[in-house]
Parts: sequence; structure tokens; C-alpha cells
Amino acid sequence: MEQLDRKPDVGMSGPLFVAVGVDGVYARTGLFEQVVESLSTCISQRREPGTEVLRFPPVMSRAQLERSGYHHNFPHLLGCVSCLEGDEATLRTLANRPDWPEHLSASGLVLAPAACYPSYPLAAARGFVPPEGLRFDVASYCFRHEATHELGRLQSFQMREFVCIGKPETVLAFRKRWIVKGQELANLLGLNHRLVPASDPFFGRAGRLAALSQLEQALKFEMLIPVRSEEDPTACMSFNYHLDHFSTVWDLKSEGGEPIHSGCVAFGIDRLALALFSTHGMEPASWPRTVREALALSACSPISPHS
Ligand code: ATP
Ligand code: ZN
Ligand code: MG
Repeated sequence: MEQLDRKPDVGMSGPLFVAVGVDGVYARTGLFEQVVESLSTCISQRREPGTEVLRFPPVMSRAQLERSGYHHNFPHLLGCVSCLEGDEATLRTLANRPDWPEHLSASGLVLAPAACYPSYPLAAARGFVPPEGLRFDVASYCFRHEATHELGRLQSFQMREFVCIGKPETVLAFRKRWIVKGQELANLLGLNHRLVPASDPFFGRAGRLAALSQLEQALKFEMLIPVRSEEDPTACMSFNYHLDHFSTVWDLKSEGGEPIHSGCVAFGIDRLALALFSTHGMEPASWPRTVREALALSACSPISPHS
């Protein structure tokens, strides 16, 4: 693969991101967004038939997230929406206090930590899972209270996912197909990639055991692609098998009583876009022709920061 002589300037401030005063939270420039949109289209083109498209807002039901067990497994990453409550006089008084944040109370909303969480209760509300299973194409802005903010580790980022709910063999076949499709996509985009077994960043000592068991059972694979460096590539896609976790939580059943499992494949859209800039340079107009064609960028002229 063609390599750049010099590592391009893919920084947290500059041509791709504009700082907005908080680490890990950035405004995206037109240059970055153009590539994000092209990537999203490229992924949509690979959507399997019979997949229902849903776009979720960046917030979701706190009750649903609690029922999924997220606050036990990942309390360190969770962000909740809190509001001031009261009549006009109370709100006026509270807003004038320097310690006003102390008076916030938790609302019924949390910030979505992954795009797929609302899919499972939504499927459960529809009754039995059909014999062929259910497939969703979902996306949302996600929030994670990350401990570090290196390049590619954002607090607020865009996640695109395909979700499958069905018989164990249906879900495993879905994940296998998407691992191949993911690798084909990375090849087409000229991105160096490596598939590795992975685990989720579960909290605490019990979490380390959960992570080990996840590794042992090969429940999660990540596709690593260079963003910061070749030596320390970044997880840009993940391929997840949840066994019966969500189907038990949401009582997802088949009519015939066969077990129901779930899985999801997640694309870190911001990381994939960063990987493209990091690999091919800061000017999409001079990216390899095959990459521009895959992203349908060929007709695009380079865009100025203010266009
Ligand atoms: P990591 O290993 O980097 O901590 P993760 O294993 O927690 O990520 P997943 O939960 O599998 O990630 O999320 C799906 C995808 O979302 C990841 O493969 C990645 O591309 C993207 N992603 C996750 N966390 C972030 C983040 N903080 N900033 C940007 N993208 C992220
Ligand atoms: Zn998911
Ligand atoms: Mg990971």
C-alpha cells in the first residue's frame, strides 16, 4: 500500500476539529464532515436486505439503560442528564447560586453510551422474534466519560451499528458476514487493519473477570486501524456477540421457545474518518483514486473551511 512520507497533521485542533473548550468534545469542520457523510453512505450501501433503519437521538431512557445493567458494568463511563426543578422563583434563586449544579436532579434521560441499547426494548415491544430474526441499522451520537482524551478518544462521538436478534446460529452467521464485510471495506478504503479478540472496559475487579470471560468465549473482536500511530492502532470497528444478555433482560422470545441471542457490529465513524486522513493525508482530492471512488469523493472539489 502507498505510504505517506510524513505523518499528516491529524490533530484535535486544526483542519478537522475545532476546540470548544472541553477535552474530548470538538466541532467538526466541513472537511471532516464531508468524509463522515461519505463513510456513512458507504456503510449504508452495505446494509443487508430486511434491515430496519432507525436513527436515535443522543439521549435515551434511563430506566432502559438501568435495566440493561450498564450502570453496574460501566459506571465510570456513564453520563446522565440532570435538570433544575421547581417554580419560577425557585429556579431563579437556584440559577443565581454559585453552587447551582449541586441542586440538579437526575431526569429520566441518560446520554446514549452506544447506539444499539434502545433496539432491544423496541424489539421486545413487538412480540415474538420472527424465525428469521430481526435486523436493525441504528446510529446515534454517543457519550462516554473517558479517562483520557488522546487522538480518537472523544467524549462525544458518532456510532453506527447493525444489530441482529435471533437464533444463536443466525446471530453468529450475521457477525461472521460482517467481519468479512468490515475487512473488505477497510481494504477498499486503503486502511491497514488487524482483527483482534477484545473485551469491553468493564468496571472494577469483578469487571476484570467479566472481561476475561468475554475474551475466553470470543464474544468481541475489534478491527484495529492506525490513527495515532502504526505501532499502536485504534479500535475503529467492533463485532459483538451478547449471547442471551439482552434477550434475558428484555424477555425476547421466539414463538417456538428456541433461545434468542443478539449481536451487533459497531463502526466508530469519527475514528474511521480520522484513520482515512491519517493514512492518506489531509486532502481528500489527492487520496488514491480507488479510495475516492469508494467514498464517491471523485466529483468533489477540495472544500474551503468556510464553504
Ligand atoms: P476502546 O477499545 O477504544 O475503548 P470500546 O471497546 O469501548 O473502544 P465499543 O464499545 O466496541 O468500543 O464501541 C464501538 C466503536 O465505537 C469502537 O470500535 C470505536 O470505533 C468507537 N468508539 C468507542 N469509544 C470511542 C470514543 N471514546 N471516541 C471515539 N470513538 C469511540
Ligand atoms: Zn451494540
Ligand atoms: Mg475496546
